[in-house]
Amino acid sequence: MGVTIVMFPGPLESHSVPMIELSNRLLRHHADLNITILLSRNAATRPLTPRLSFIELPYVEPSTGAQMNLAETLIGHVDRLKPVVADALASILNTNVAVPAFVVGMFGTTMIDVAADLGVPAYIFFTTSATGLGVFLHLPVVDSKYKEDEWRAHMEGIDVAGLHMVPPLDFISVLGYKQSPAYTWFLNSSRQYVKAQGIIVNSFNDLETKALEALAQGAYLPAGHTMPSIYPVGPLLGLDGRQAEFADHPCIKWLDGQPNSSIVFLCFGGMGTFSTEQAREIALGLELSGHGFLWSLRVQSGSKETDLQAALPDGFLERTKSLGLVWTESAPQVSILAHPAVGGFVTHCGWNSVLETMWFGVPMVGWPLYAEQRLNAFVLAKELGILCGRLKKEEDDDEALVEAKDVGETVRRLMEEEEGRRAREKTLRMKELGRKAVEEGGSSYANLALLVNQWTCASNSQS
Ligand code: UDP
Repeated sequence: MGVTIVMFPGPLESHSVPMIELSNRLLRHHADLNITILLSRNAATRPLTPRLSFIELPYVEPSTGAQMNLAETLIGHVDRLKPVVADALASILNTNVAVPAFVVGMFGTTMIDVAADLGVPAYIFFTTSATGLGVFLHLPVVDSKYKEDEWRAHMEGIDVAGLHMVPPLDFISVLGYKQSPAYTWFLNSSRQYVKAQGIIVNSFNDLETKALEALAQGAYLPAGHTMPSIYPVGPLLGLDGRQAEFADHPCIKWLDGQPNSSIVFLCFGGMGTFSTEQAREIALGLELSGHGFLWSLRVQSGSKETDLQAALPDGFLERTKSLGLVWTESAPQVSILAHPAVGGFVTHCGWNSVLETMWFGVPMVGWPLYAEQRLNAFVLAKELGILCGRLKKEEDDDEALVEAKDVGETVRRLMEEEEGRRAREKTLRMKELGRKAVEEGGSSYANLALLVNQWTCASNSQS
Protein backbone atom coordinates (compact mmCIF):
# COMPACT_ATOMS: atom_id res chain seq x y z
CA MET A 1 0.00 0.00 0.00
CA GLY A 2 1.37 3.47 -0.90
CA VAL A 3 1.88 6.14 1.75
CA THR A 4 0.38 9.57 1.12
CA ILE A 5 0.62 12.65 3.29
CA VAL A 6 -2.19 15.10 2.61
CA MET A 7 -1.66 18.81 3.23
CA PHE A 8 -3.87 21.87 3.32
CA PRO A 9 -2.00 25.19 3.53
CA GLY A 10 -5.07 27.45 3.72
CA PRO A 11 -5.85 30.27 1.29
CA LEU A 12 -2.69 32.42 1.64
CA GLU A 13 -0.03 31.98 -1.02
CA SER A 14 2.72 32.93 1.43
CA HIS A 15 1.67 29.80 3.39
CA SER A 16 1.53 27.56 0.28
CA VAL A 17 5.11 28.33 -0.77
CA PRO A 18 6.78 27.04 2.45
CA MET A 19 4.38 24.07 2.48
CA ILE A 20 5.44 23.10 -1.04
CA GLU A 21 9.05 23.47 0.07
CA LEU A 22 8.31 21.32 3.15
CA SER A 23 6.88 18.67 0.81
CA ASN A 24 9.90 18.71 -1.48
CA ARG A 25 12.20 18.25 1.52
CA LEU A 26 10.11 15.43 3.00
CA LEU A 27 10.08 13.58 -0.31
CA ARG A 28 13.87 13.55 -0.38
CA HIS A 29 13.85 11.54 2.85
CA HIS A 30 11.83 8.56 1.65
CA ALA A 31 11.45 7.11 -1.85
CA ASP A 32 8.00 5.58 -1.15
CA LEU A 33 6.36 8.70 0.22
CA ASN A 34 3.80 10.68 -1.80
CA ILE A 35 2.31 14.04 -0.93
CA THR A 36 -0.95 15.59 -2.07
CA ILE A 37 -1.57 19.27 -1.40
CA LEU A 38 -5.13 20.56 -1.40
CA LEU A 39 -5.09 24.05 -2.86
CA SER A 40 -7.94 26.51 -2.89
CA ARG A 41 -6.59 28.09 -6.08
CA ASN A 42 -4.19 27.35 -8.92
CA ALA A 43 -0.77 26.16 -7.79
CA ALA A 44 1.85 28.89 -8.06
CA THR A 45 4.67 26.38 -8.27
CA ARG A 46 5.11 23.39 -10.51
CA PRO A 47 5.74 20.10 -8.72
CA LEU A 48 9.35 19.01 -9.10
CA THR A 49 8.48 15.32 -8.86
CA PRO A 50 5.43 13.20 -9.73
CA ARG A 51 5.34 12.13 -6.07
CA LEU A 52 4.00 15.61 -5.24
CA SER A 53 0.56 16.35 -6.60
CA PHE A 54 -1.92 19.16 -6.22
CA ILE A 55 -5.67 18.86 -5.98
CA GLU A 56 -7.49 22.07 -6.72
CA LEU A 57 -10.48 22.25 -4.43
CA PRO A 58 -13.85 23.22 -5.93
CA TYR A 59 -14.27 26.99 -5.92
CA VAL A 60 -15.87 28.36 -2.80
CA GLU A 61 -16.88 32.01 -2.74
CA PRO A 62 -14.72 33.87 -0.17
CA SER A 63 -16.67 35.57 2.58
CA THR A 64 -16.37 39.32 2.27
CA GLY A 65 -17.81 42.25 4.10
CA ALA A 66 -17.02 45.95 4.15
CA GLN A 67 -15.95 45.82 7.80
CA MET A 68 -13.92 42.61 7.63
CA ASN A 69 -10.16 42.73 8.02
CA LEU A 70 -7.79 40.29 6.36
CA ALA A 71 -7.82 37.78 9.23
CA GLU A 72 -11.63 37.74 9.33
CA THR A 73 -11.88 37.25 5.56
CA LEU A 74 -9.41 34.37 5.69
CA ILE A 75 -11.08 32.73 8.64
CA GLY A 76 -14.52 32.95 7.00
CA HIS A 77 -13.12 31.47 3.80
CA VAL A 78 -11.51 28.52 5.54
CA ASP A 79 -14.74 27.71 7.37
CA ARG A 80 -16.56 27.59 4.04
CA LEU A 81 -13.92 25.27 2.66
CA LYS A 82 -14.51 22.66 5.39
CA PRO A 83 -16.96 20.42 3.43
CA VAL A 84 -14.84 20.42 0.25
CA VAL A 85 -11.69 19.59 2.22
CA ALA A 86 -13.55 16.77 3.99
CA ASP A 87 -14.71 15.39 0.62
CA ALA A 88 -11.20 15.58 -0.86
CA LEU A 89 -9.61 13.80 2.13
CA ALA A 90 -12.33 11.13 2.14
CA SER A 91 -11.79 10.50 -1.61
CA ILE A 92 -8.05 10.01 -1.06
CA LEU A 93 -8.74 7.57 1.80
CA ASN A 94 -11.04 5.62 -0.54
CA THR A 95 -8.20 4.99 -3.00
CA ASN A 96 -6.56 2.37 -0.80
CA VAL A 97 -3.52 4.44 0.26
CA ALA A 98 -2.34 4.80 3.84
CA VAL A 99 -2.67 8.41 5.04
CA PRO A 100 -0.64 8.64 8.28
CA ALA A 101 -0.84 12.43 8.46
CA PHE A 102 -2.96 15.40 7.43
CA VAL A 103 -0.85 18.55 7.69
CA VAL A 104 -2.70 21.87 7.93
CA GLY A 105 -1.45 25.45 7.79
CA MET A 106 -2.02 28.07 10.47
CA PHE A 107 -5.28 29.17 8.90
CA GLY A 108 -6.42 25.59 8.42
CA THR A 109 -6.74 24.50 12.04
CA THR A 110 -10.52 24.10 11.79
CA MET A 111 -9.65 21.14 9.53
CA ILE A 112 -8.19 19.26 12.53
CA ASP A 113 -11.76 18.19 13.34
CA VAL A 114 -12.26 17.05 9.73
CA ALA A 115 -9.15 14.84 10.07
CA ALA A 116 -10.33 13.49 13.45
CA ASP A 117 -13.74 12.55 11.96
CA LEU A 118 -11.94 10.57 9.27
CA GLY A 119 -9.46 8.98 11.72
CA VAL A 120 -6.35 10.68 10.31
CA PRO A 121 -3.75 12.17 12.73
CA ALA A 122 -3.42 15.94 12.21
CA TYR A 123 -0.22 17.97 12.20
CA ILE A 124 0.06 21.76 12.05
CA PHE A 125 2.64 23.50 9.91
CA PHE A 126 3.31 26.82 11.65
CA THR A 127 4.95 29.07 9.05
CA THR A 128 6.09 31.82 11.37
CA SER A 129 8.37 31.95 14.42
CA ALA A 130 8.52 29.48 17.31
CA THR A 131 8.14 32.48 19.61
CA GLY A 132 4.97 33.39 17.71
CA LEU A 133 3.74 29.86 18.28
CA GLY A 134 4.45 30.22 22.01
CA VAL A 135 2.56 33.51 22.22
CA PHE A 136 -0.30 32.01 20.28
CA LEU A 137 -0.52 28.92 22.53
CA HIS A 138 -0.40 31.23 25.54
CA LEU A 139 -3.42 33.24 24.39
CA PRO A 140 -6.01 31.40 26.53
CA VAL A 141 -3.85 32.10 29.62
CA VAL A 142 -3.53 35.80 28.76
CA ASP A 143 -7.22 35.94 27.90
CA SER A 144 -8.31 34.72 31.31
CA LYS A 145 -5.73 36.87 33.13
CA TYR A 146 -6.68 40.24 31.61
CA LYS A 147 -10.26 41.50 31.43
CA GLU A 148 -11.83 43.06 28.33
CA ASP A 149 -8.91 44.78 26.61
CA GLU A 150 -7.38 45.67 29.97
CA TRP A 151 -4.07 44.27 28.76
CA ARG A 152 -3.79 47.11 26.28
CA ALA A 153 -2.92 49.31 29.22
CA HIS A 154 -0.11 47.08 30.43
CA MET A 155 2.62 49.06 28.81
CA GLU A 156 5.31 47.17 30.70
CA GLY A 157 4.40 44.28 28.46
CA ILE A 158 2.53 41.00 28.42
CA ASP A 159 4.18 38.27 30.45
CA VAL A 160 4.74 35.21 28.28
CA ALA A 161 6.77 32.43 29.91
CA GLY A 162 10.50 32.59 29.26
CA LEU A 163 10.40 35.65 26.97
CA HIS A 164 11.11 39.32 27.47
CA MET A 165 7.88 41.17 28.23
CA VAL A 166 5.94 41.36 24.96
CA PRO A 167 4.89 44.96 24.14
CA PRO A 168 1.06 45.11 24.13
CA LEU A 169 0.75 46.51 20.59
CA ASP A 170 3.05 43.78 19.28
CA PHE A 171 0.75 41.27 20.94
CA ILE A 172 -2.55 42.86 19.85
CA SER A 173 -1.59 43.38 16.23
CA VAL A 174 -1.59 39.62 15.75
CA LEU A 175 -4.85 38.93 17.48
CA GLY A 176 -7.11 41.93 17.15
CA TYR A 177 -9.26 43.29 19.95
CA LYS A 178 -11.08 41.04 22.34
CA GLN A 179 -14.52 41.71 20.92
CA SER A 180 -13.49 41.12 17.29
CA PRO A 181 -14.43 37.90 15.42
CA ALA A 182 -10.72 37.42 14.57
CA TYR A 183 -9.79 37.38 18.27
CA THR A 184 -12.44 34.79 19.05
CA TRP A 185 -11.24 32.66 16.17
CA PHE A 186 -7.60 32.91 17.29
CA LEU A 187 -8.60 31.94 20.82
CA ASN A 188 -10.53 28.90 19.56
CA SER A 189 -7.78 28.04 17.13
CA SER A 190 -5.20 28.21 19.92
CA ARG A 191 -7.24 25.60 21.82
CA GLN A 192 -7.27 23.38 18.71
CA TYR A 193 -3.46 23.10 18.69
CA VAL A 194 -3.33 20.63 21.56
CA LYS A 195 -5.47 18.23 19.51
CA ALA A 196 -2.70 17.95 16.91
CA GLN A 197 -0.27 15.06 16.93
CA GLY A 198 2.64 17.37 16.19
CA ILE A 199 3.52 20.93 15.22
CA ILE A 200 6.06 21.56 12.47
CA VAL A 201 7.72 25.00 12.74
CA ASN A 202 9.59 26.98 10.10
CA SER A 203 12.43 27.84 12.46
CA PHE A 204 15.58 26.14 13.71
CA ASN A 205 17.14 25.27 17.05
CA ASP A 206 19.99 27.78 16.93
CA LEU A 207 17.68 30.63 15.95
CA GLU A 208 15.06 30.30 18.69
CA THR A 209 16.66 28.05 21.29
CA LYS A 210 14.83 29.49 24.30
CA ALA A 211 11.38 29.55 22.74
CA LEU A 212 11.77 26.03 21.36
CA GLU A 213 12.83 24.70 24.77
CA ALA A 214 9.90 26.42 26.46
CA LEU A 215 7.54 25.01 23.80
CA ALA A 216 8.86 21.47 24.31
CA GLN A 217 8.28 21.84 28.06
CA GLY A 218 4.69 22.99 27.47
CA ALA A 219 5.48 26.29 29.23
CA TYR A 220 3.05 28.30 27.09
CA LEU A 221 0.02 26.06 27.49
CA PRO A 222 -2.81 26.53 29.97
CA ALA A 223 -2.48 24.14 32.94
CA GLY A 224 -3.60 20.57 32.38
CA HIS A 225 -2.79 20.38 28.66
CA THR A 226 -0.16 18.23 27.02
CA MET A 227 2.09 19.71 24.39
CA PRO A 228 2.12 18.01 20.99
CA SER A 229 5.60 17.14 19.67
CA ILE A 230 7.45 20.08 18.10
CA TYR A 231 9.48 19.69 14.91
CA PRO A 232 11.60 22.73 13.93
CA VAL A 233 12.48 22.08 10.29
CA GLY A 234 13.53 25.51 8.97
CA PRO A 235 14.64 27.54 7.30
CA LEU A 236 12.33 26.41 4.49
CA LEU A 237 12.58 29.01 1.77
CA GLY A 238 11.46 27.59 -1.56
CA LEU A 239 14.50 28.97 -3.35
CA ASP A 240 14.61 26.37 -6.14
CA GLY A 241 14.67 28.16 -9.46
CA ARG A 242 13.76 31.55 -7.99
CA GLN A 243 17.21 33.13 -8.42
CA ALA A 244 18.06 31.93 -11.93
CA GLU A 245 14.62 33.00 -13.17
CA PHE A 246 15.34 36.66 -12.45
CA ALA A 247 18.87 37.14 -13.78
CA ASP A 248 17.56 39.50 -16.50
CA HIS A 249 15.09 41.36 -14.32
CA PRO A 250 15.49 45.18 -14.47
CA CYS A 251 16.14 45.33 -10.70
CA ILE A 252 18.96 42.79 -10.99
CA LYS A 253 20.41 44.48 -14.08
CA TRP A 254 20.42 47.76 -12.20
CA LEU A 255 22.11 46.17 -9.17
CA ASP A 256 24.76 44.68 -11.46
CA GLY A 257 26.05 48.22 -12.03
CA GLN A 258 26.34 49.11 -8.31
CA PRO A 259 29.34 48.68 -5.98
CA ASN A 260 29.33 45.81 -3.48
CA SER A 261 27.27 46.29 -0.29
CA SER A 262 26.34 49.84 -1.31
CA ILE A 263 22.58 49.53 -1.72
CA VAL A 264 19.83 49.49 0.88
CA PHE A 265 16.84 47.44 -0.28
CA LEU A 266 13.35 48.35 0.95
CA CYS A 267 10.50 45.88 0.45
CA PHE A 268 7.34 45.29 2.46
CA GLY A 269 5.85 41.96 1.42
CA GLY A 270 2.95 41.08 -0.79
CA MET A 271 0.54 43.46 0.90
CA GLY A 272 2.67 46.25 2.34
CA THR A 273 1.36 49.57 1.05
CA PHE A 274 1.92 53.13 2.24
CA SER A 275 -0.12 56.32 2.25
CA THR A 276 1.26 59.01 -0.07
CA GLU A 277 2.19 61.00 3.04
CA GLN A 278 4.29 58.12 4.37
CA ALA A 279 5.86 57.44 0.97
CA ARG A 280 7.05 61.06 0.83
CA GLU A 281 8.70 60.75 4.23
CA ILE A 282 10.51 57.60 3.11
CA ALA A 283 11.69 59.31 -0.09
CA LEU A 284 13.01 62.33 1.82
CA GLY A 285 14.63 60.02 4.35
CA LEU A 286 16.44 58.09 1.64
CA GLU A 287 17.72 61.33 0.17
CA LEU A 288 18.89 62.41 3.62
CA SER A 289 20.77 59.17 4.12
CA GLY A 290 22.74 59.75 0.93
CA HIS A 291 22.85 55.99 0.28
CA GLY A 292 22.02 54.09 -2.87
CA PHE A 293 18.63 52.37 -2.65
CA LEU A 294 16.31 49.92 -4.35
CA TRP A 295 12.81 50.65 -3.13
CA SER A 296 9.88 48.38 -3.88
CA LEU A 297 7.05 50.85 -3.35
CA ARG A 298 3.33 50.32 -3.39
CA VAL A 299 1.07 53.21 -2.66
CA GLN A 300 -2.41 52.72 -1.32
CA SER A 301 -4.92 52.69 -4.22
CA GLY A 302 -5.43 54.59 -7.44
CA SER A 303 -3.44 54.19 -10.61
CA LYS A 304 0.24 53.37 -10.27
CA GLU A 305 1.72 56.18 -12.36
CA THR A 306 -0.39 58.97 -10.95
CA ASP A 307 0.10 57.78 -7.40
CA LEU A 308 3.83 57.47 -7.80
CA GLN A 309 4.19 61.04 -9.06
CA ALA A 310 1.83 62.28 -6.36
CA ALA A 311 3.47 60.24 -3.65
CA LEU A 312 7.05 61.27 -4.19
CA PRO A 313 8.42 64.73 -3.42
CA ASP A 314 8.81 67.06 -6.44
CA GLY A 315 11.88 66.19 -8.48
CA PHE A 316 12.78 63.20 -6.28
CA LEU A 317 13.08 60.69 -9.13
CA GLU A 318 15.21 63.11 -11.15
CA ARG A 319 17.49 64.02 -8.22
CA THR A 320 18.07 60.40 -7.18
CA LYS A 321 18.36 58.98 -10.70
CA SER A 322 22.00 58.01 -10.27
CA LEU A 323 21.52 56.84 -6.70
CA GLY A 324 18.40 54.74 -6.59
CA LEU A 325 15.65 52.77 -8.26
CA VAL A 326 11.98 52.90 -7.30
CA TRP A 327 10.20 49.72 -8.38
CA THR A 328 6.40 49.65 -8.28
CA GLU A 329 5.70 46.00 -9.01
CA SER A 330 6.52 42.82 -7.17
CA ALA A 331 10.32 42.69 -6.80
CA PRO A 332 12.36 39.47 -7.11
CA GLN A 333 13.24 39.69 -3.42
CA VAL A 334 15.31 36.54 -3.11
CA SER A 335 17.52 37.41 -6.11
CA ILE A 336 17.92 40.94 -4.77
CA LEU A 337 18.95 39.75 -1.29
CA ALA A 338 21.42 37.36 -2.91
CA HIS A 339 23.02 40.17 -4.95
CA PRO A 340 26.46 41.38 -3.74
CA ALA A 341 25.47 45.05 -4.25
CA VAL A 342 22.87 44.83 -1.44
CA GLY A 343 24.27 45.88 1.95
CA GLY A 344 21.10 46.24 4.05
CA PHE A 345 17.38 45.54 4.04
CA VAL A 346 14.46 47.53 5.43
CA THR A 347 11.83 44.82 5.84
CA HIS A 348 8.24 44.51 7.02
CA CYS A 349 9.45 41.47 9.03
CA GLY A 350 7.20 38.88 7.38
CA TRP A 351 8.69 35.60 8.59
CA ASN A 352 9.61 34.39 5.09
CA SER A 353 11.44 37.67 4.48
CA VAL A 354 13.24 37.33 7.81
CA LEU A 355 14.44 33.81 6.99
CA GLU A 356 15.44 34.85 3.46
CA THR A 357 17.51 37.81 4.63
CA MET A 358 19.27 35.60 7.19
CA TRP A 359 19.94 32.98 4.53
CA PHE A 360 21.86 35.59 2.54
CA GLY A 361 23.40 37.32 5.58
CA VAL A 362 21.91 40.77 4.88
CA PRO A 363 21.48 42.92 8.03
CA MET A 364 18.01 44.37 8.54
CA VAL A 365 15.98 47.23 9.90
CA GLY A 366 12.41 46.34 10.89
CA TRP A 367 9.30 48.18 9.80
CA PRO A 368 6.45 45.84 10.76
CA LEU A 369 3.12 46.64 9.12
CA TYR A 370 0.44 43.99 9.60
CA ALA A 371 -0.37 40.43 10.74
CA GLU A 372 2.26 39.03 13.14
CA GLN A 373 5.07 41.25 11.83
CA ARG A 374 5.31 43.30 15.03
CA LEU A 375 5.82 40.12 16.97
CA ASN A 376 8.55 39.05 14.53
CA ALA A 377 10.22 42.44 15.00
CA PHE A 378 10.05 41.83 18.76
CA VAL A 379 11.72 38.43 18.32
CA LEU A 380 14.46 39.92 16.14
CA ALA A 381 15.08 42.96 18.34
CA LYS A 382 14.57 41.71 21.89
CA GLU A 383 15.05 37.96 21.77
CA LEU A 384 17.82 37.77 19.15
CA GLY A 385 19.30 41.27 19.22
CA ILE A 386 19.87 40.99 15.49
CA LEU A 387 17.86 43.99 14.27
CA CYS A 388 19.62 47.26 13.45
CA GLY A 389 16.74 49.47 14.54
CA ARG A 390 13.00 49.39 14.23
CA LEU A 391 11.21 52.12 12.28
CA LYS A 392 7.71 51.28 13.47
CA LYS A 393 8.43 51.36 17.19
CA GLU A 394 6.85 49.18 19.88
CA GLU A 395 4.74 52.09 21.12
CA ASP A 396 3.72 53.39 17.66
CA ASP A 397 0.21 52.49 16.61
CA ASP A 398 -0.62 51.67 12.97
CA GLU A 399 -1.42 55.28 12.08
CA ALA A 400 1.80 56.79 13.45
CA LEU A 401 3.83 58.47 10.70
CA VAL A 402 7.51 57.53 10.48
CA GLU A 403 9.39 60.74 9.78
CA ALA A 404 12.02 61.31 7.10
CA LYS A 405 14.76 62.06 9.63
CA ASP A 406 14.20 58.68 11.36
CA VAL A 407 14.32 56.87 8.02
CA GLY A 408 17.50 58.71 6.98
CA GLU A 409 19.23 58.26 10.33
CA THR A 410 18.34 54.56 10.62
CA VAL A 411 19.49 53.80 7.07
CA ARG A 412 22.76 55.61 7.80
CA ARG A 413 23.30 53.57 10.98
CA LEU A 414 22.58 50.35 9.09
CA MET A 415 24.91 51.13 6.21
CA GLU A 416 27.73 53.04 7.92
CA GLU A 417 27.98 52.58 11.64
CA GLU A 418 29.16 50.08 14.22
CA GLU A 419 25.55 49.07 14.96
CA GLY A 420 25.08 48.04 11.31
CA ARG A 421 28.37 46.17 11.33
CA ARG A 422 27.35 44.23 14.46
CA ALA A 423 23.95 43.42 12.95
CA ARG A 424 25.74 42.15 9.83
CA GLU A 425 28.02 39.90 11.92
CA LYS A 426 25.09 38.42 13.81
CA THR A 427 23.14 37.88 10.60
CA LEU A 428 26.13 36.18 8.98
CA ARG A 429 26.36 33.88 12.01
CA MET A 430 22.68 32.98 11.57
CA LYS A 431 23.29 32.42 7.87
CA GLU A 432 25.92 29.84 8.75
CA LEU A 433 23.80 28.16 11.45
CA GLY A 434 20.64 28.16 9.30
CA ARG A 435 22.41 26.54 6.36
CA LYS A 436 23.94 23.92 8.68
CA ALA A 437 20.54 23.13 10.23
CA VAL A 438 19.05 21.96 6.92
CA GLU A 439 22.11 20.02 5.72
CA GLU A 440 22.53 16.33 6.42
CA GLY A 441 23.55 16.06 10.09
CA GLY A 442 21.78 19.33 10.99
CA SER A 443 18.95 19.62 13.52
CA SER A 444 16.20 20.52 11.02
CA TYR A 445 17.31 17.76 8.69
CA ALA A 446 17.13 15.27 11.59
CA ASN A 447 13.62 16.47 12.53
CA LEU A 448 12.35 15.94 8.98
CA ALA A 449 13.85 12.44 8.96
CA LEU A 450 12.17 11.72 12.29
CA LEU A 451 8.76 12.82 10.99
CA VAL A 452 9.07 10.74 7.82
CA ASN A 453 10.20 7.76 9.83
CA GLN A 454 7.23 8.06 12.19
CA TRP A 455 4.79 8.39 9.31
CA THR A 456 6.11 5.51 7.28
CA CYS A 457 6.30 3.25 10.37
CA ALA A 458 2.73 4.20 11.31
CA SER A 459 1.49 3.24 7.83
CA ASN A 460 3.41 -0.05 7.91
CA SER A 461 1.57 -0.94 11.08
CA GLN A 462 -1.75 0.15 9.41
CA SER A 463 -1.25 -2.13 6.39
N1 UDP B 1 8.09 38.81 -2.09
C1 UDP B 1 8.71 39.03 -3.28
N2 UDP B 1 8.60 40.27 -3.86
C2 UDP B 1 7.90 41.29 -3.30
C3 UDP B 1 7.27 41.05 -2.07
C4 UDP B 1 7.39 39.81 -1.48
O1 UDP B 1 9.39 38.14 -3.83
O2 UDP B 1 7.86 42.39 -3.88
C5 UDP B 1 8.18 37.46 -1.46
C6 UDP B 1 9.23 37.42 -0.37
O3 UDP B 1 10.49 37.05 -0.90
C7 UDP B 1 8.67 36.38 0.59
C8 UDP B 1 7.16 36.52 0.41
O4 UDP B 1 6.95 37.16 -0.84
O5 UDP B 1 9.05 35.08 0.18
C9 UDP B 1 6.53 37.37 1.50
O6 UDP B 1 6.38 36.57 2.63
P1 UDP B 1 6.51 37.17 4.09
O7 UDP B 1 6.23 36.07 5.05
O8 UDP B 1 7.81 37.85 4.24
O9 UDP B 1 5.43 38.32 4.18
P2 UDP B 1 3.88 38.43 3.80
O10 UDP B 1 3.80 39.12 2.48
O11 UDP B 1 3.31 37.04 3.79
O12 UDP B 1 3.37 39.27 4.88
